[in-house]
Amino acid sequence: MQYSKLVEIYEKLESTTKRLHHVYIISEFLKNVSVEELGTTILLLEGRIFPRWDEREIGMASKMMLKAIGVASGESKERINKEWKKTGDLGTVSYNLIKKKKQHTLGSHELTVKKVLKNLRKLATIEGQGSVDKKISLVAELLTSAKPNEAKYIVRTILNDMRIGVGEGSIRDAIVWAFFGKELKVHYNKEENNIEIEDREKYNQYIDALQRAYDITNDFATVAEAAKKQGLKGLGEMIMSVGIPLKVMLAIKVDDIEEGFERCGKPAEFEFKYDGMRMQIHKNDNEIKIFTRRLENVTNQFPEVVDCVKKYVKENKVILDSEAVGFDKKTGKYLPFQNISRRIKRKYDIEKMSEQFPVEVNVFDIINYKGKSVINEPFEERKKIIDKIIKNVSKKIKVAKSIVTSNKKEVQDFHKEAVDSGNEGLMIKKLDAPYKPGARVGFMCKLKETKENLDLVVVKAEWGEGKRSRWLSSYTLACRDKDKFVEVGKASTGLKEKREEGLSFAEMTDLLKPLIKKEEGKEVILRPKIVIEVGYEEIQKSPTYSSGFALRFPRVIRLRSMEKPPDDATTLDMIKETYRKQKK
Ligand code: AMP
Repeated sequence: MQYSKLVEIYEKLESTTKRLHHVYIISEFLKNVSVEELGTTILLLEGRIFPRWDEREIGMASKMMLKAIGVASGESKERINKEWKKTGDLGTVSYNLIKKKKQHTLGSHELTVKKVLKNLRKLATIEGQGSVDKKISLVAELLTSAKPNEAKYIVRTILNDMRIGVGEGSIRDAIVWAFFGKELKVHYNKEENNIEIEDREKYNQYIDALQRAYDITNDFATVAEAAKKQGLKGLGEMIMSVGIPLKVMLAIKVDDIEEGFERCGKPAEFEFKYDGMRMQIHKNDNEIKIFTRRLENVTNQFPEVVDCVKKYVKENKVILDSEAVGFDKKTGKYLPFQNISRRIKRKYDIEKMSEQFPVEVNVFDIINYKGKSVINEPFEERKKIIDKIIKNVSKKIKVAKSIVTSNKKEVQDFHKEAVDSGNEGLMIKKLDAPYKPGARVGFMCKLKETKENLDLVVVKAEWGEGKRSRWLSSYTLACRDKDKFVEVGKASTGLKEKREEGLSFAEMTDLLKPLIKKEEGKEVILRPKIVIEVGYEEIQKSPTYSSGFALRFPRVIRLRSMEKPPDDATTLDMIKETYRKQKK
């Protein structure tokens, strides 16, 4: 397929923000894509070059892109920079400049979807000395053979910033409409932007089946292929593989023990809620892989965990769900998450870090046993397997501490024990429930002692004054409302002046600067990528912010981007619910 065909779709998608319209555009397009090209096309439609679980990345920042555009367009750095400032988007810059280049198009090759993907993937393999120059020249070459509008989307794909507003839900629905739309009699009315569906229940079944397949594989490309080739049956048969991460089950917050029992039934299991980092551990004989909650591969960063899993997990093929907590080597006491967070992105001094900030793995669930999925086994049974295969070794790896009870007093005592020994509170597990990857269904609940903080996305920031003038020091925070972000307040306290003291203004500035879309006076508009945990005194109704709510005394607690993507940020519904409970 010509890349220009896909570009037409990007342009159509960019011209509307209506979700259903997006679904319609994608589904009509997918209907005519051959099975052979379906995977490639879907990946690029998502703005990806590898599936979500694949850790390879292009590793090309805006600065390098600027140079590549310079080579391809023959324009000066100053000119490109000026255009960039004006538009805030290097995609548009490359469109304008390549269009201007007179000698262009005549003689250039037609780009195919396959060729674009192949070249972009090549970028991810370039490493070592001279890699920067090699990457720049490869991208320049690609841009030179591209038409202006093709160049725009190639640049955006590389920078991982498609700006077409297509979320995972839209791709999922589009696959259902494309391959099952006829059978389900889905009719989209463009004028009214609504859909008619003959049998809602059946439709929802298909959507759920697709979502399930995606939660297990994390790859819409393979899911779409299965849907097209084998229909609903194919989706149902998609299996997880040890070594490929799947989405983790998420927790619902409960306010007290009663609510916990209401959701999880009696008796229920109560476990320590460790304040660490979620680890999905894959053991395939001697090959161990560790993934974060965001499915990033952090195996290399945690060599001591790899060792423990080899030694103390007495089964050769498993996927475990666990929480790794940092502890003080001298006192043995648990340490807050912040201490191990710095290990996640670490590329050097890894052994030293594992000496300095060791972790203990607390296993609380099992997803695959002996190479077979156990997600449909009741939790109680899964727990028995864990107890059987984990050799408990304190400060190395062990089964999460737990009790099974119907008695409130016992829970209260256990909660106190958890908090006293440095944990966040308790988790509550429903004994007869399956494991639902990617879902927040109330089979696992969290009971924290203190008021829950919010995980908000930084959408704007302001340059500081006086000695803070080098830093972005005031942050506009937003929660998620379906496919968009709505503002709930501004925070400028909680950060440190010095880097070594914790999350500092300087570190935040480093993180936010590459995300600047536009500058207006002191204020900068940001791409919504950074999630931070925010504490507050109270939620109030307020016309000041687009959410209709404002936070009283918001303060930044810590960075959350390592564990939570913006899609997982606190939602407007959660804020409304907290507001409602607070009034009560
Ligand atoms: P939260 O991040 O506040 O939504 O709380 C849920 C998180 O608690 C999970 O994603 C885990 O990383 C963590 N956690 C700690 N201990 C446990 C446990 N025993 N069971 C499940 N999750 C746990």
